[in-house]
Amino acid sequence: MTELVPYAVSERNTLGRNVHEDTPFGRSEFQRDRDRIVHSTAFRRLEYKTQVFVNHEGDLFRTRLTHSIEVAQIARSIARHLKLNEDLVEAISLAHDLGHTPFGHAGQDALNTCMEAHGGFEHNLQSLRVVDVLEERYAAFDGLNLCFETREGILKHCAPESAARLGAVGERFLKQQRPSLEAQIANLADEIAYNNHDVDDGLRSGLITLDQMSSVHLFAGHLDAVRKAYSGIAERRLIHETIRRMINTLVNDLIRETEKNIRIHAVRDIADVRDAPSIAAFSAEMHEQNRELKAFLRTHLYRHYRVMRMSTKARRIVSDLFRVFMEDNRLLPPQFQHQAEEDSARAVSDYIAGMTDRYAIREHRRIFAVEEI
Ligand code: MG
Repeated sequence: MTELVPYAVSERNTLGRNVHEDTPFGRSEFQRDRDRIVHSTAFRRLEYKTQVFVNHEGDLFRTRLTHSIEVAQIARSIARHLKLNEDLVEAISLAHDLGHTPFGHAGQDALNTCMEAHGGFEHNLQSLRVVDVLEERYAAFDGLNLCFETREGILKHCAPESAARLGAVGERFLKQQRPSLEAQIANLADEIAYNNHDVDDGLRSGLITLDQMSSVHLFAGHLDAVRKAYSGIAERRLIHETIRRMINTLVNDLIRETEKNIRIHAVRDIADVRDAPSIAAFSAEMHEQNRELKAFLRTHLYRHYRVMRMSTKARRIVSDLFRVFMEDNRLLPPQFQHQAEEDSARAVSDYIAGMTDRYAIREHRRIFAVEEI
């Protein structure tokens, strides 16, 4: 393994695990974290959870599983170039969506609303809850007992009231500090991945068109260049080649700007990373182009009438399930009934958040459809 820069997270400076464990043989602490995430139940369920589209709508769309793998690929490339801890960015990337509800943003908004009077629902907090509490696999502890830096990277955002209850991993939100550079990189790799694959999924599904996309600078520049270099190119290749170049441009810009910020803020160790403003960043110009792309997607894809129809159904399924389980805890599977004795709303929320898209649809049918046995 290449030598890491002094401000990278390493086994020498890690704050370690909540429950002490012997040093792993043949792999690093962060490889062990990555491996535990891959073997978790919540990770496997990502295959049937979606962000924008509902899973059964078609096989051409990304799921949260393939999304997470794409995030890990982008984040690892950046981390390797910057001589940061590649295993850590991979672990954070693969775990970052573990707490997401079924049906992407729509499902999450619905659960947020349902949980308003019961302490709220935040997907980042839920991802941490999955790896800290909800995975019941290991004999010696609840959760996956991951290293502090992996847990910190998973908790991207957090309301101050929640942060105050979390101990060390919540402190940075109260002290206005930044997480490790590895966490910052994984966060931006997430953004690069979803913007680009949403364009890809949107174009291939026909919800948005190449013509519409020509109004987005970041896309149009590469589209023209590919068309000029390869006249008569088939549309599938044209789309992929344009998106591949777009991802490259974003990654290269992020690397250069981050290197510049490391110099400007004279970052020498992790304490410097935590105290400086965000070190990992796009240049001002790229930030603006990225913003334009996001605004386009919001208007033309996420609010497309066909997506809105799916979102409405998703919201209804989540809020129906929440209501019916809250009215009668005896409808919950036994392990959640047990949890509900202590905190009914949290048990219902954990049960719903853990569902895949198709499981939630089936569960809704099992409970509400009269002809269902
Ligand atoms: Mg994500």
